[in-house]
This record gives sequence, C-alpha cells and structure tokens, in this order.
Amino acid sequence: MKIATLILCSLLFTTPALALISRLQPGGYYFGQAPPGSQVFYRDKPLHLTADQHFILGFGRDAELRQQLTLLSPDGQKSELFLQLEPRSYRIQKINGISKRMMEPSAEELVRIQREAALASSARQHFSNLSNFREPFIWPLKGRISGVYGSQRILNGEPRRPHYGIDIAAPQGSPVIAPAGGTVRLAHQGMFFSGKTLIIDHGFGLSSTFLHLSKILVKKGQRVKQGEKIALVGASGRVTGPHLDWRINWFNERLDPALWVPSMSR
Ligand SMILES: [Zn+2]
Repeated sequence: MKIATLILCSLLFTTPALALISRLQPGGYYFGQAPPGSQVFYRDKPLHLTADQHFILGFGRDAELRQQLTLLSPDGQKSELFLQLEPRSYRIQKINGISKRMMEPSAEELVRIQREAALASSARQHFSNLSNFREPFIWPLKGRISGVYGSQRILNGEPRRPHYGIDIAAPQGSPVIAPAGGTVRLAHQGMFFSGKTLIIDHGFGLSSTFLHLSKILVKKGQRVKQGEKIALVGASGRVTGPHLDWRINWFNERLDPALWVPSMSR
C-alpha cells in the first residue's frame, strides 16, 4: 500500500507545473500547491485541493494585507504560510441620472432584492471540482471600459456601495462569450438591480457573473466551453446604457476580473 502511494506521488510530481500566476493584492488571488497528503486551512476552514494538490484562494476588495494559511502535514505537523498583499487604492466614480425607483426601492422591492441576492450568493457558494479556473481567461467582450473594480460610487450625489465588476460598454445585442469554460449555475430572467443575470461556475469556487444582459443563450446546468457565445449585451436592471458588467467571485469574495485577463487589445 505504501509503495503504491509513493509511486502515485512521484507521478504527480512529474506533471508539468501549471503556469498559474498569483496576483497578491486586494481583489487578487493566490494559486498554491500543497505537499502530497497535506491539507491547507484558511480562516480555520480546509481549502479544496485538486488531485495534484493545487488550490486557489481569492482576496476581497478590502482584504487584510497580511494573509495566513495553515498547512497540516500527513503526520499532523502544522506550519504557517504568510502572504503579503500589495496595497491598492480605488477610484471614485460619480454617476447621475439614476431613477428614484432605483435609488430608493420600496419595502416590497427590498424583499425582492434580498431574495435575488440570496439566489446569486448560493449559486456562487456552490462547489464543483471543474478545472476550468486554470484556463488562461479571455475577455468575454471587447469595448470601452466604463467602470472598474472597487471604485467607490457616488450615485446621484450619494455615496453607495463600491462597484465590484468591470463594465464594458458595447451596443445592445453584442455577443458575450465565456471567458473560461464551466457550468451555468444561474440564468435569471430579471433581477431588480442586475436585470438578466448569468453565473458560470469555473470550479473550485471561482465563478463569473454577467449582468444587465438583453438575452441569455444558455440554460442552468449547461456546460459551456471557453469562447462559446453565452449571452447578448443589454441594459436590463439599474443601468444608464447598454454594457456588460462582468464579475469574478471566489465563493462570495468579490475579485477583480481585470486581474484574470491580459490588457485588452481591440
Ligand atoms: Zn457595473
């Protein structure tokens, strides 16, 4: 039994290293590999490991700059790994002309908003062992960047929640393609803020969300490949014009999509 395990381990070590580059900053992510047989804990919870012991960890917008991981070896030894994130600052974005209804939802609408947020959250919490998160991501749409991750928003003069996506302006009906493969986890026909909303699970907690669509071309549970047409750009939900708002999550941590793709060439 022991010999078999050793052989298996040596086979795993001969697998070529993956070209996964970490982005150590708030909104970024860390790709790690644990030694064979060991487990990795983050905030007291075990991280999911791939068959070759890789794992991914995502950092939110306001993540602590010093991050700690605990490694538990098969013989029960614990060791700590510290990651130091680069600080970053965020822009301030002012948007005017948003309707009163969108600025001040009614009590009924607030119930709807909460219900929809719970749907999105549970879709993002779903764990699958798909390995698509390892694909080098591509832009789901090319166009003018009209909003960036993390910006503090001033809507009609009032400070509101930061923006967590990257906004790409494009004409109504422009095709949106899958930035990486995955499984459709949510295809919603009309949320209060985000309109037609699509969530694709890329595996190990990593997901993409596409907001304000005019049409969703895939169904919940469907597998999609990188580059496949999945939706059309629209202006549904709280928007001032047609654009795609693309978000990336690691479970419910909101990451910066711009850190997953090369700079846009058009
Ligand atoms: Zn947006």
